[in-house]
Amino acid sequence: MSDSYQFFAQVNKAFDKAASYTNLDRGLLAQMRICNDVLHITFPLEKDDGSIEVIEGWRVEHSHHKLPTKGGIRYAMTVNEDETMALAALMTYKCAVVDVPFGGAKGGIRIDKKKYSETEIERITRRYTFELYKKNFIGPGLDVPAPDYGTGEKEMAWILDTFRQISTDINAEGCVTGKPISHGGIRGRKEATGRGVYFGVREACNHVEDMKELGLEPGLEGKTFVIQGLGNVGYHAAKNMIEGGAKLIGIAELEGSIWSEEGIDLDNLVQYRKEAGTILGFEGTKELETRDKALELDCDILIPAALENQLNEKNASRIKAKIIGEAANGPTTSEAHEILKNRGTLIIPDNYLNAGGVTVSYFEWLKNLSHVRFGRMGKRFEETSYRKILSVIENISDRRFTDKELEYLAQGAGEGELVDSGLEETMIQAYNEINELRKKHNVDLRTAAFISSIEKVGLIYESMGIFP
Ligand code: GLU
Repeated sequence: MSDSYQFFAQVNKAFDKAASYTNLDRGLLAQMRICNDVLHITFPLEKDDGSIEVIEGWRVEHSHHKLPTKGGIRYAMTVNEDETMALAALMTYKCAVVDVPFGGAKGGIRIDKKKYSETEIERITRRYTFELYKKNFIGPGLDVPAPDYGTGEKEMAWILDTFRQISTDINAEGCVTGKPISHGGIRGRKEATGRGVYFGVREACNHVEDMKELGLEPGLEGKTFVIQGLGNVGYHAAKNMIEGGAKLIGIAELEGSIWSEEGIDLDNLVQYRKEAGTILGFEGTKELETRDKALELDCDILIPAALENQLNEKNASRIKAKIIGEAANGPTTSEAHEILKNRGTLIIPDNYLNAGGVTVSYFEWLKNLSHVRFGRMGKRFEETSYRKILSVIENISDRRFTDKELEYLAQGAGEGELVDSGLEETMIQAYNEINELRKKHNVDLRTAAFISSIEKVGLIYESMGIFP
C-alpha cells in the first residue's frame, strides 16, 4: 500500500454519500465525521543487543458521543496517521450499526513484528500502554483497546498488566479486551470476528429474493468461497463457513494463491503451513500464477480477511464472486466498490460484517465491570428448573427420557453459549436493519450501514443538545 492512499478520505466519501439520505444538520455531520483526538507518540526502545531505536505509534479517538471509545491496536509497517484515523472512524460506524455503545478509536505502532524478539515486543507494548495512560488515552471508562492486525491475547495481557501497575481502578480489567481468559477475557472472543462474518454471510444467503437477484439458491449449503488471509479472522471465518456447509475452493496468502475445485481441507492446510512455512504445494491444490490471483477465482463468495485496499481499480473488473464478505477493514476501495456494484455484486460491508469482534469485546467489558462470569448465577438454576419440568412431563405421560436426552434438554447456558447467542442475535438483527434500509433508499448495503449508524449517532448528539 502506498502512503499516498487516502484511506480516511475514502471512509468520508462513503459517509458523505450516506449522509445525503439523512436530514441531519450539516454542522452536526461535520462534527460526526472528524476525529476528536489524534495522539502521535514516539518513544525509545532498548533492543536486546543494547542499541536504541525510535518507535512510532498512534491512538486516535474518533468520536466521544459514547464512552469509552473502543478499537484495536495494530502492529504493522502500513500503520500511519491516515490509516489509524480511517480505522477509528470505521469503529464508530461499526459500533453504531450493531448497537454496541462505544465511540470509535484505533491505535497502531509502525513496526515489522518479525524483526523484534518477544521481549522487545513486550517492552514496546508496555511503553506504549504507559504513554496512553499518561495522556488519558486508556481506561475502562475512557478508551479500551483490543487486538487487531498483528496483535493478540499476549499483547492484551501485557497492556492490562502495565495498566494495573499504574492504576488502582477497581475496574482495571476492563481497560482492554481480547485478553486471555485467565486474565479476565471471555470465551468466544478469539473466534468472534470470524464467527460474526459467518453469521452475517449466512443471514445474507438466507434472503430468498436477494439470492434470486444474484442467480443463487438460498442458503449457505454448497456455496463455494475463497478467502484472502488466514490470520485469526480469516481462519475462523473459513472454519465456520465450512461447518455451515460452504466449500472452500481458494486461498490467497502472503506467499501466494492456491486453488482446488474439490475443496481445501482447512485444518490440514494450517498444519501443513506450520511445518512448510507456506500454503503453496499443499496436497490436492494448484498454485495460481500470481500472489492474489485467488481473489479472481470463479466462486459464489469472496472473503477478503487481510488488510485494506485489496480490491481496487486494478483487479475489480476481474473479480467474479457474486457476494463479497468484507471480513477485513476497508478491503474494497470506493472505485472497486462502484465497479463491483455495477456488475450486481452483493457487497456485505466491513462496517457491519466484521463487527463480531467488537460485539464480543463489549460482552467482555461488561463481564469485567460486573466482576462475574456470564452464566455463573443462573446456569445451575436453569438446569434444575428444566429437570423439574421434564420430570413433570414424565409423571403425566408414559415418556421416559434417556440420560442423553436429559443432558441435552436440561442444559443451562454457560458463558460460551451466552456469548455465542448474543453474537448471533446481534449479527442477524443488524443485517435485517441494514437490508431494510438498502431497500427503502435503493442503495447498496455499505451506504445502508452508514445511514444506519449516522442516524443512530445523530440521535444521540441531538438528544444531548449537541455540545455541552
Ligand atoms: N480490531 C477489531 C475491529 O477492528 C476489534 C475491536 C475491539 O474489539 O474493540 O473491529
